[in-house]
Amino acid sequence: MDPKVKELLDRIRETASTAGGVAYYGLDAAGKKAGEVWDITKLKWKRTDLKADVYRLYRDVGEIVYATHAKPDAPTDALDSLLAALDEKHEAIEELTRRIEERRQGRVCPNRDCGAAVTAGDAFCRRCGATLRADADKADKEET
Ligand SMILES: [Zn+2]
Repeated sequence: MDPKVKELLDRIRETASTAGGVAYYGLDAAGKKAGEVWDITKLKWKRTDLKADVYRLYRDVGEIVYATHAKPDAPTDALDSLLAALDEKHEAIEELTRRIEERRQGRVCPNRDCGAAVTAGDAFCRRCGATLRADADKADKEET
């Protein structure tokens, strides 16, 4: 293997994902907006956008890797930020998938300004304190 490509791949391994510290992709700020409705469709649209971002980033990383193969002194400075961006997008996609799944199961706070995930068996929402009733699932489905 081209030594420059090998070095590059070693560097990629060194920066292996440390997912814990990555900020979620704007979910907190958006989720707190009064009246914001986070229904499954909107969550899916957002996830689709993020997946498109991921493919663009894959393409950009691939261009750098190939450029390094074709021309060993090609610049690779952008690689770290591209990989960090990929980590962030993957985290956000996982978070969205989790939220979509929670909504499918109806395990969200009935307060439309909150919408936090709730655990089956909880009497009150851990975020806003709303009473969790049997009609929580119905209220969720009425959101449009
Ligand atoms: Zn709540």
